[in-house]
Amino acid sequence: MPLRSSRLFFTALSRAGLQTIPKGLTRPFSNMSKLPTDTRPIVVSGPSGVGKGTLLQLLFSRHPDVFAFSVSHTTRDPRSGEVHGVHYHFVPMKDFEDLIDANGFVEHAKFSGNRYGTSKMTIEEQSAKGKVVVLDIEMEGVKQIKNSDIPARYVFVAPPSEEILEKRLRGRGTETEESVQKRLTQAKRELEYSKTPGVHDIIIVNDDLETAYKQLDDFIYKSA
Ligand code: ADP
Ligand code: 5GP
Repeated sequence: MPLRSSRLFFTALSRAGLQTIPKGLTRPFSNMSKLPTDTRPIVVSGPSGVGKGTLLQLLFSRHPDVFAFSVSHTTRDPRSGEVHGVHYHFVPMKDFEDLIDANGFVEHAKFSGNRYGTSKMTIEEQSAKGKVVVLDIEMEGVKQIKNSDIPARYVFVAPPSEEILEKRLRGRGTETEESVQKRLTQAKRELEYSKTPGVHDIIIVNDDLETAYKQLDDFIYKSA
């Protein structure tokens, strides 16, 4: 199961008392299950394959019941193991366009030949849970959230190098060659945009996973 796809699945398993990742990676943190002082939604972006899903999977598993994932709409096909309504709302193009026409999205964008968007309903539902809403979205969506009235914190996850990014994307085994190429082209744009001063509150280089995770955890819990 791809890691982006597996993160909420893992959360469900974790809540059921089952563990799917090595014990050392699941040890509790001292601030486990506490709401951060700053409860604004957290917008995570970064090139496809950089490890956003992997880091969020750790975040959700180490802080059960603190965060609510913003389940996006997409027109792309589900990957093996992805569940409608959990990983994404997988919808036909017509439904996606109808929702655009109904002004139902907070933001939406085209990415690698498909459409992705955060619906207003999802944000409302997840916010109502009293948890910190986490969005995993690409660059155009980030810009739109920034232009909206949603107060948010912005995290950019960068790769140690473009070569390593490509290796991870291919290593995940979820993409066709065409999709890999599109995602790598888009990655250059995302990396360029990340250099714009003030756009992100933190840029985390995901080299060693635990080091990157600690930066994310510290940012969320200690930077209020
Ligand atoms: P994204 O959600 O950003 O598209 P994923 O979380 O799916 O990326 O990660 C892409 C691939 O990279 C996965 O196979 C994952 O196991 C791997 N990966 C993630 N972080 C690291 C890391 N720090 N070191 C090595 N491999 C990693
Ligand atoms: P994937 O197909 O790998 O699941 O996601 C591809 C890209 O789409 C990722 O960069 C991811 O962050 C982004 N994405 C996922 N959901 C949304 C969304 O609702 N809006 C936007 N703008 N991007 C999204």
